[in-house]
Order: sequence, then C-alpha cells, then structure tokens
Amino acid sequence: MSDHINELYDKDGNLIGALLSAEAWTAARTVVLDHLGIVEEPQVKELAEPTQDWETLKEYWDFQYPVDTDVQCEHCGNATEDWAADEPRKFRLTSANLAGLVSFKCENCQSKIVKKHFKDEIKTECTPFQAEKKQNKEGRY
Ligand SMILES: [Zn+2]
Repeated sequence: MSDHINELYDKDGNLIGALLSAEAWTAARTVVLDHLGIVEEPQVKELAEPTQDWETLKEYWDFQYPVDTDVQCEHCGNATEDWAADEPRKFRLTSANLAGLVSFKCENCQSKIVKKHFKDEIKTECTPFQAEKKQNKEGRY
C-alpha cells in the first residue's frame, strides 16, 4: 500500500490489523486513541513491585544458602541489609522469577541491579541508568 502502512490479512483475506511506520503512527496516534477511548497512563507512573513473584521464589528456594535480602548499588554506593524493610525504599523490586533472577532499581541513581542466584553463589550486576534508552523504548518491538 505504502511504505508507511502495511495491512495484515489472515489466510481468508480478512483484515486483522496494520503495521504503521513511526511517522504514520505519530500522525494517527491521537485520533486512534480518542476513537477507541484509550486513556494513556501517565508515563512516570511506577509499576507495582512484583512482590508475589518474590514470595513464590522464597517459597521454592532451593539454593544452598538462606534467602538474601541485601542489595548494593555499585554505581552510587546505596546499600541496604533488607530492601523490603526500608521505608521509604532504597531499592524497588522490579522483577523476580523462579530461576533466581531478581532485579531492583536503585531509588537513588536509577541503576538496575540484578542478583543472579546460582546454586551455591550469588552474582550481582549493576547497570547504570541510561536516560536515552528509556526515551526510545516506546515504539520498539
Ligand atoms: Zn545507585
């Protein structure tokens, strides 16, 4: 149709959707959202902490050491012995899964801290916050 719009059809020839270029989407976005009555969430809204995932991980803990609650930020030096006990939080839990991957965001400098739980040791990675990356996130797939 055009470089900007790719209509998608199923095997019976029914229109099921369309892929728009960034330029086309930017032009049409407001109209589409209004038409469908979609209210945009404020972009700064913090996602709720996935504490249930953390609880599940603790429940099925099969590592050769006790549950660890300490978090350190190598980037700015922020540290806590028990992230869940801090009020206000020094670190926010951003993800946790049964494989033992637990991520936090440093509330001081926005760095991402990932604790990888292996059978007999924990490896921690600290990735400084990159503002540019976050801005470009929208529209990527
Ligand atoms: Zn930090």
